[in-house]
Amino acid sequence: MKTIAVIGAGTMGNGIAHVFAQCNFSVHLIDVSPTALEKGLATISKNLDRMLAKDKIKSSDKENTLSNIKTFTTLKDGVANADLVVEAATENLEVKLGIFKELDVLCNEKTILASNTSSISITQIAAVTNRPQKVIGMHFMNPVPIMPLVEIINGYSTTQATTHTIMELSKNLGKTPTMVNDYPGFVANRILMPMINEAIETLHHGVAGVQEIDTVMKLGMAHPMGPLQLADFIGLDVCLSILNVMYDGFKNPKYAPSPLLVNMVMAGKLGIKSNEGFYDYTESKKAEKIAEQFNS
Ligand code: NAD
Repeated sequence: MKTIAVIGAGTMGNGIAHVFAQCNFSVHLIDVSPTALEKGLATISKNLDRMLAKDKIKSSDKENTLSNIKTFTTLKDGVANADLVVEAATENLEVKLGIFKELDVLCNEKTILASNTSSISITQIAAVTNRPQKVIGMHFMNPVPIMPLVEIINGYSTTQATTHTIMELSKNLGKTPTMVNDYPGFVANRILMPMINEAIETLHHGVAGVQEIDTVMKLGMAHPMGPLQLADFIGLDVCLSILNVMYDGFKNPKYAPSPLLVNMVMAGKLGIKSNEGFYDYTESKKAEKIAEQFNS
């Protein structure tokens, strides 16, 4: 594989593009929003600077990585000649089905189509293509340049050959791939999201404040970051979408999103990406919070 198209330049897409580009793949980063592309490239550059300051890379590595990334605003231009497409667009079923229908027409028949979805059925996404055997979940963790796990999700029709290729590729990126089956929330979010949701309910019920809840989980359970701060980094809109997919998928009230989470998303308080969530991320405090995430 040489050319990787990454769809979506948001929280995850820019991290995925960063990791592939640092491993010398030619990366086509695609987003419908030119502003998201600009911000995505700026984030990659800042994250490379952080690695440079810690002597994890050389300045030539930074230049190489950035020169391996080209940006596009249309799928048609961005996915031409891609050996693999990793879709990391908004966590919304209709958006993803629309993208995969288009990809199936635009991409070479050999191209593997992966989704970084946190919870949506890979089988359902694959079913809108004529190549369900070549559709797979490649679920990177946030922040992608730091986190070693890639949760690999086999859809109903994913072939062993596709899984093998993606497992090996993930290892070549220096990651640890772990294979799971296709159920709502897979493994990572089936376990993580109920914990985050319960932390939000604990706040909602006035049992403790934001700092206290996060401190209990950090110092009491040895979590590197409290669940409310983690929710801010994931994006509260993304957390809500994942909980809704699990709630609908399992028909079980235990996955019902906290009304506080629903309200915060409706109010546009999405966490770090909107500068406010459970914590304040206005410019003066943002750098400090991001550094915490990278050091945790
Ligand atoms: P985000 O909101 O930060 O970014 C999504 C980007 O997709 C936006 O820039 C948007 O403009 C773009 N987009 C929307 N529709 C598009 C289209 N049709 N074509 C091209 N670009 C389009 O979202 P995110 O947090 O990066 O999440 C992306 C995916 O990764 C989701 O499926 C999410 O569930 C998953 N994910 C998120 C996290 C996390 O911590 N945020 C972790 C793992 C997986």
